Amino acid sequence: MTTIRETAGLDAAVAALDAARSVSVICHVQPDADTIGSGLALALVLHRRGTPVWVSFAEPANLPMSMTALPGVRHLVAPAEVPAEVDLLVTVDCGSVGRLGALADRLPGAATTLVIDHHRSNTRFGAINLVDPGAESTTSVIARLLDAWGMPIDSEVAQCLYAGLVTDTGSFRWVRPGTHDLAERLLATGIDGAEIARTLLDTHPFGWLPMLSRVLGTAQLAPDVRGGVGLVYAFVRRADVDGMRSEEIESVIDIVRTTAEAGVAAVFKESRTVPNRWTVSLRSRDSGPNTGDGIDVAEVATELGGGGHRFAAGYTAYGTPDDLVGALVAVLG
Ligand code: AMP
Ligand code: MN
Ligand code: MN
Repeated sequence: MTTIRETAGLDAAVAALDAARSVSVICHVQPDADTIGSGLALALVLHRRGTPVWVSFAEPANLPMSMTALPGVRHLVAPAEVPAEVDLLVTVDCGSVGRLGALADRLPGAATTLVIDHHRSNTRFGAINLVDPGAESTTSVIARLLDAWGMPIDSEVAQCLYAGLVTDTGSFRWVRPGTHDLAERLLATGIDGAEIARTLLDTHPFGWLPMLSRVLGTAQLAPDVRGGVGLVYAFVRRADVDGMRSEEIESVIDIVRTTAEAGVAAVFKESRTVPNRWTVSLRSRDSGPNTGDGIDVAEVATELGGGGHRFAAGYTAYGTPDDLVGALVAVLG
């Protein structure tokens, strides 16, 4: 099938969704609540219009447990069930083709492709690209898209959109004018914001506490990195996370990044399946001590083969702990 090149924009996105007779929605690998909330919100709206829709992500095999209560999960299918050919393929919260994992192979079979995202590093790999690096979450972009399309946001859709908004803003810490207006609008549909936040961000098994003890015990401070900006880092080794969910592992960076003496924070997370493979979370900040005018960690992550946002980014790396730290420090300078 041919892919039509189109310019960015809301109008093109609305037209594509409106015309599509079948839609696949691909979320990013190791999905978070922003990509899943975006995908399920779109699926709910499309399904109500009678448009066949499949939502999927390439890996891991299961949806993070904290997201299983989101409305629309019935539209989630295993990667193998995503049709090879479809009218419209939409990617949500994916900054590059690599974020689709093995499902990137569905791109050529789509008559057209629509990329909906908010990553600064987005490579605009769609025929239509609706990318707003200023948006606090991809679900915020979806809300704007639904408004432009004239699709009402009911409580089920609102719950999905709120899930991405509350998580990507760090519980409304990283906000901009309009963030709270959107939150208010979503809450006014009757959803339980406290419950959504508690389920997604604030509930861990007891084993999380001893896990944190081991992991935080690996923390190191390298104060001289980037001319004194400083780097703080910790390792989540495979042996530390027996029985833990991705929710417990992903929580670690939010503790490590609070270190006042470092403007950059990194957490190296060892793969449970592939030896010597690590996923790395990077964070920086634009105010407070040791910010170095706000290190752009998206740039750092991109140089290391990943991507992300200015203050939150990630990449995948291979090697020993010393290799990993060495490579990161070499890029940071
Ligand atoms: P995380 O630390 O996994 O929460 O990721 C922080 C940000 O960086 C998110 O916006 C991710 O989408 C992005 N990111 C993480 N890992 C990668 C990667 N391997 N490639 C591109 N972007 C990534
Ligand atoms: Mn995401
Ligand atoms: Mn996001």
